[in-house]
Amino acid sequence: MGRLYAIEVIYRGIFQKQLATRITRSIVLAAHEEGKLGISFGRYGDSPERNGIPAKGFAIVADDQLTLEEGMAKYEPKEVDVTIAVDDTLCKGVESWAWYGLQPVNKLLKPGGTLLVTSREQPETILQMAHRKETPYNLAILKGTVSFSGLWVYKDDHTDVRILGAIAKILPGLFTLKSVQKTIVDQWNDSVKAESAARAYERISSVAVRPDQGNPETPYKFNFPKWHEMGEGIAIPSIPAGKAIEDPTTHESGGFRPDRNPTFKKYTTRTMRPVVNFDTCIKCTLCWLQCPDSCFDVTPEGLYDANMQACCGCGVCEAVCPVKDCVTMVNETAFEDNASQWEAWRKDKKGYEAWLADKIKSRPERSHGFRYRGQYEEQVPEMLEVARKG
Ligand code: SF4
Ligand code: SF4
Repeated sequence: MGRLYAIEVIYRGIFQKQLATRITRSIVLAAHEEGKLGISFGRYGDSPERNGIPAKGFAIVADDQLTLEEGMAKYEPKEVDVTIAVDDTLCKGVESWAWYGLQPVNKLLKPGGTLLVTSREQPETILQMAHRKETPYNLAILKGTVSFSGLWVYKDDHTDVRILGAIAKILPGLFTLKSVQKTIVDQWNDSVKAESAARAYERISSVAVRPDQGNPETPYKFNFPKWHEMGEGIAIPSIPAGKAIEDPTTHESGGFRPDRNPTFKKYTTRTMRPVVNFDTCIKCTLCWLQCPDSCFDVTPEGLYDANMQACCGCGVCEAVCPVKDCVTMVNETAFEDNASQWEAWRKDKKGYEAWLADKIKSRPERSHGFRYRGQYEEQVPEMLEVARKG
């Protein structure tokens, strides 16, 4: 039997679908250059994508047909040589529509495998998010702005070719940089892209991650009835209406928090989250009305608190809020929990003010890139510059 190589790309549904497809397909094509066989595919026949939801694509490559067939006999690889997270906020974990609960980003990595992350953050920040793993692995950061686009749109910022160059360095048995560059030129006839791959190859480096490093929290999961515990027929329980909120300082109840799906959280769907300045809010209700995911809890005094269990980070609330800087979208890498902002504000208004200012300033700016027509085009030169500097 020959060697089997498995690589997964964890990406944001819709926004990065084209990017992930180009990466997995090009991995197989570059391996073909060296006489290897392979296949690339998306994971989720059973998991419809929606904006931002974590999804996966795979590239499976083998030295020979028999090894490839054996590798393909599994529904999806049980372990991989490289996990590529094309958005650093995915390091908080993956909750897709294909399963319930949180899967750590490094779950499928083989001992000694490599987690390759596109990010402008430092390794320490990535490891605050990525869960601890029992076996050691390597963390490589491809320095660059996270690339987002739409379902039918591809943002040509060289993220795909830079990742291919980095893989040639990380997993030299899979293919050489020369094969990567030939694949790039054959597909896109673009020598500048081939040069970007070479730069990534030269600059990528990794740090070893020990089992005692990383996010120590236990990933959340849900208990479901076993098949023999299920009743006959199908009953779809409705979601209860919701209830009033208790003020953490006065303990009086008021306002309204709708009940939400208890077995699906949107914590890992977000790449940004809104932070709200409750001192300047004029209670106009626009954020509450326009939020597509009904995220806002109404507080006893009539303010609006974005509930992080439901927020997908779309940015609509920031766009509709009529008060300058009252709602600000902040890079999700800045946050370590999903606690209520309103409760924190109620308990310590000065402390909250300082927290708010720090969060807004502290992180690389993040944007989905589709707030207005032409925003992609504006972003590409900046992204290429970040990539050039490495
Ligand atoms: S970003 Fe704002 S509008 Fe969008 S889901 Fe979150 S709370 Fe709702
Ligand atoms: S849109 Fe802005 S001002 Fe209006 S209720 Fe929401 S946070 Fe307050």
